[in-house]
Amino acid sequence: MRCIEEQGHIFEEWLTPEQITERVQAVADRINEDYKDKSPLFVVVLNGAFVFAADVIRRINRRCKVTFIRVKSYEGTTSTGNIKFIIPLQQNIEGRDVIVLEDIVDTGLTIHQLKDYLYEQGAASVKVAAMLCKPDKIQFPDAVPEYPAQCIKDEFVIGYGLDWEGFCRNLDAIFKLKE
Ligand code: 5GP
Repeated sequence: MRCIEEQGHIFEEWLTPEQITERVQAVADRINEDYKDKSPLFVVVLNGAFVFAADVIRRINRRCKVTFIRVKSYEGTTSTGNIKFIIPLQQNIEGRDVIVLEDIVDTGLTIHQLKDYLYEQGAASVKVAAMLCKPDKIQFPDAVPEYPAQCIKDEFVIGYGLDWEGFCRNLDAIFKLKE
């Protein structure tokens, strides 16, 4: 098992690149099936979801569009309780079937607030695909992703787009903080 050190902490490999690929393919298969007669608009939540999004989108065989939004709720390893829109939506989403692509759903605050915002902007439907989901921590029922690639306990992870203070997004696997 691979281990890495980041800022004095040890992280061990938890999901290998092969395991990630399998789970991403399963998510894409489900979306392809569910959106057979639709043309979804993917909203990628920057920064963390860019790697997951690139992998999911290339497996989508429907006609679709992709746009980006940037929000921030975390400082270091804890949620701040409010999301900031750093890059707002740059696309008209009225009447569109939106699929949000998120790296990880933790308390669910980001997705809860984002869903409200997307409906306010006129989305016809909003569903969420997330690489990771922490079911024991989610505080908002509407934030439970319809397409979770993998569930995880209340642990801090990095890699595959997920950062620690901006670092580690480039890791090809997902690493878990060792106690
Ligand atoms: P939520 O709003 O659901 O509490 O938090 C969502 C955001 O928090 C994620 O998009 C991600 O940026 C950050 N986050 C939550 N848990 C983790 C984690 O275990 N590792 C990292 N790197 N970021 C996390």
